Amino acid sequence: METKEAVQEAEKQPVRADDIKKQITKTGESEFIFEELSVEMEGACFIPLKQLNQLRRDGLIAVRQAAVQSFRRTVPASLEHASFKKACQPLKDSRMEDYGAGMARCLACAMVETIEQMEVILQYPQIDRLYVSIHAFTGDAVPKGQGREACGKAPGLLQLNRAVKQCREAGKAFYLVLPAVWRMDTCEKLSAAMGFQTEAETKEGLKRFLDGLAAQIDGIVAKNMEVFTIAKICSEGKALPVHLDFTAYAMNAASIQCWKELGAASCTFQPELNKGELYHLAKKRTLPMELVIYGHMPMMVSAQCPVRNTKGCSQKKEILHLKDRKGNRHFVINYCDTCYSIIYNSDVLSYIDMRQEVRSLNPDSVRLQFNIESAPEVKQVMDCFAAGYSGEEKQVQWPEKVTRGHWKRGVE
Ligand SMILES: [Zn+2]
Repeated sequence: METKEAVQEAEKQPVRADDIKKQITKTGESEFIFEELSVEMEGACFIPLKQLNQLRRDGLIAVRQAAVQSFRRTVPASLEHASFKKACQPLKDSRMEDYGAGMARCLACAMVETIEQMEVILQYPQIDRLYVSIHAFTGDAVPKGQGREACGKAPGLLQLNRAVKQCREAGKAFYLVLPAVWRMDTCEKLSAAMGFQTEAETKEGLKRFLDGLAAQIDGIVAKNMEVFTIAKICSEGKALPVHLDFTAYAMNAASIQCWKELGAASCTFQPELNKGELYHLAKKRTLPMELVIYGHMPMMVSAQCPVRNTKGCSQKKEILHLKDRKGNRHFVINYCDTCYSIIYNSDVLSYIDMRQEVRSLNPDSVRLQFNIESAPEVKQVMDCFAAGYSGEEKQVQWPEKVTRGHWKRGVE
């Protein structure tokens, strides 16, 4: 460290070593103290106090930088990947008109985990759009090797093609829901679980798979930022709309605007919002917003294989039940095709019979979400929804305790 100006020769009062020491050791509230400080000077010197103070401040900054240097990380080049930047441009695509129209008319959507659930929904003309989990096309549902000979494709892919076709024939848009957790090996695991068999297929399986798929499907649902990024990269060039689930942070107008700038097509109201917050956000929205009006809410997402240390990983999707210390039952879905799990509340959230309130919020779309419901349970909920749609009242025997989420909470 050097002072900006050189030391001058003193005309009247030369500076003393003690004065310099006193000024330089004033480390005050910084994280440093001097253990030792030696002053060397020759002759009668003069230096303004201001310069000594500046020297001390600059010195402390330099020491601090040197101390933390080893903890700095460098951003890997791949994060600045051109395709990411390009993929994150806002959408300009005719398919967005779907959303424009949605502003005038509220779309009805249904999210399902299984083909069985999807097939029930297909019977209901009220539903405009289906969100189908990618996990519906892996594991048990796809006996390995079967059907492959017929068309040279992986069985999971075959099933997916069939599901897309079924939705189209029923006049519904098909959105694919990507996993909630995406690890380094998720792509490989998914393509293996879907039945890609050659090495090349498995290696870049999902990328190619989504590339091929993008031409057929109408959109992708992402549950968080990293999956959103994957979805954007995979659908690059096809300008597929990416819809964000409520687990992607969108608690206020600023975060929704941020998603818009990143190129998201639409967001979901978060279940933590109370009525006042919902109405406020609905007014300030800059993207189409979806409201979940039925479904079990997730309580925790765990990025671990939940059974590796107990009974061992089955590499399949399965449902377990938990009881907490208050005796409340919850259920866990192990997505062991890619090894993560989600704990769901066994109480089910429902606004189906709150049509007046939902209508006054004016969401761009409403969603019914099915996780563990059996086909008859899906039918029961759908009947209730359909009845409300045509203005009838229909009492439903709910399979579980019904909650109103946070809608009725908070100060208005
Ligand atoms: Zn596992």
